[in-house]
Amino acid sequence: MPTMPDNELNIFEKSRHGRRGLSLPKNGIDAKPLETLIEKRFLRNKPPELPEVPESEVVRHFVGLSMKNHHIDKGFYPLGSCTMKYNPKINERTCRLPGFSCAHPFQNDSTVQGALELMFSTAEYLSEIAGMHAVTLQPVAGAHGELCGMLITRKYHEKQGKQRKYVILPDSAHGTNPASVVCAGFQVKQVKSSADGTLSPDDLRAVIDEDTAAVMLTNPNTLGLFETEIEEIAKIVHDVGALLYMDGANLNAQLGIVRPGDLGFDIVHFNLHKTFSTPHGGGGPGSGPVGVVEKLESFLPVPVVTKRTDGNRHSFHLSYDRPDSIGKLHAFYGNFGVVVRACTYILMNGGEGLREVSEAAVINANYLKEKLRGKFDLPYPQHCMHEFVLSGNRQKKRGIRTTDMAKRMLDFGVHAPTCYFPLIVPEALMIEPTETETRETLDRFVEIMIQIDREVDEMPQTLKDAPHNTPVRRLDERKAATDLDVAWRTDDKL
Ligand SMILES: *Cc1c(COP(=O)(O)O)cnc(C)c1O
Repeated sequence: MPTMPDNELNIFEKSRHGRRGLSLPKNGIDAKPLETLIEKRFLRNKPPELPEVPESEVVRHFVGLSMKNHHIDKGFYPLGSCTMKYNPKINERTCRLPGFSCAHPFQNDSTVQGALELMFSTAEYLSEIAGMHAVTLQPVAGAHGELCGMLITRKYHEKQGKQRKYVILPDSAHGTNPASVVCAGFQVKQVKSSADGTLSPDDLRAVIDEDTAAVMLTNPNTLGLFETEIEEIAKIVHDVGALLYMDGANLNAQLGIVRPGDLGFDIVHFNLHKTFSTPHGGGGPGSGPVGVVEKLESFLPVPVVTKRTDGNRHSFHLSYDRPDSIGKLHAFYGNFGVVVRACTYILMNGGEGLREVSEAAVINANYLKEKLRGKFDLPYPQHCMHEFVLSGNRQKKRGIRTTDMAKRMLDFGVHAPTCYFPLIVPEALMIEPTETETRETLDRFVEIMIQIDREVDEMPQTLKDAPHNTPVRRLDERKAATDLDVAWRTDDKL
């Protein structure tokens, strides 16, 4: 019997003592033995067990892993709310320029003028895109941006002389919204979405009062619907002295078309790793800049990048002298590499290009919605923005759940949509194709969905056992959790 193909062995199993993928240059420094530099109690008794493999095996190892996984460079990834758009490779080139990638955060301002200018300009572009007065780049995720916005809200009310208790959220909100509200010391008040999936001004009036610190909305909301009453809602919020926060994770539908600031939002966070094409998934580095209106600028986290003009010379500086600031939210200046990528994306597209991005994202979503509504329930049938939500109710009545359909999609080499979210849609399938897919890819996805709907009647067991072609088959997610727990306790190799 031949042995297993190489890519079935893990990198430790491939290791052979003495094989090397690299050679380090002699540094020419008369190095002292480690024991004389580091206290003995901090030294290991033996070197760490690292795999020893030649470069060719390292490359095969990582290519093998990437093929087992699903990612945007491999196939369609319509994960609603996550905006898994293609990441242009030029972003990777610019963020690797040595002036950016080798800069040290403790370098003197005068030696990193280019990096500071890039931060200053990116914040300006984002301000322009969202119609905000100022932007901080420090938060490193959407959720982190929300926390930043909520801390700014606290500080604002404190300065107004009276702290407030509640933040109002619609029942369609992303799970990070209530979490951020609570982390910042507020309580959540929920308001139900109306029958058409949006927030009705009357429902908001019924719950808002002078104890409301802010109303946090996602626009377009998580059903992919634009909040049509948003200007009236802004008035209601401002009339009680509260702030209107926009979860801007869905900005991909709005670039160059509508600006949150013009609609009356006071704070908005961006998800650079969604709208602005920087890689994400698997918990990679994100970036969640926050924009604010003028009256909130002094509360932004420190440091702020400032521009000084002297004649026709400009220089850029990190300013810490901000007595009203909420303080620091993250080490140094946020995820700078992600900001370089997003800046590249903005400049490569330009204003017109960004508008086309949003137009194409909305057209692609509506195209899929219209192609699929014959076979799947569409609880909110109006024109959608960059995403839409189907319900698997019809299939459930025939014995197949959304989970089964989602697992089956993996067999066809596409990632499943977001499932069971938003919570207000039973058996939800939230589909966001993004603008970077071809019509052929969208048509193939439609064929897959229609094939799966056929399989509900013709081969239900295939759906219940799916996926069949992936390196890891269906996990019993509840059982897996208990098995893992037992394994942790009994098997020290795990
Ligand atoms: C992705 C998302 C968030 C959270 O962003 P993270 O970067 O994952 O923390 C918040 N709200 C909505 C609507 C989202 O889609």
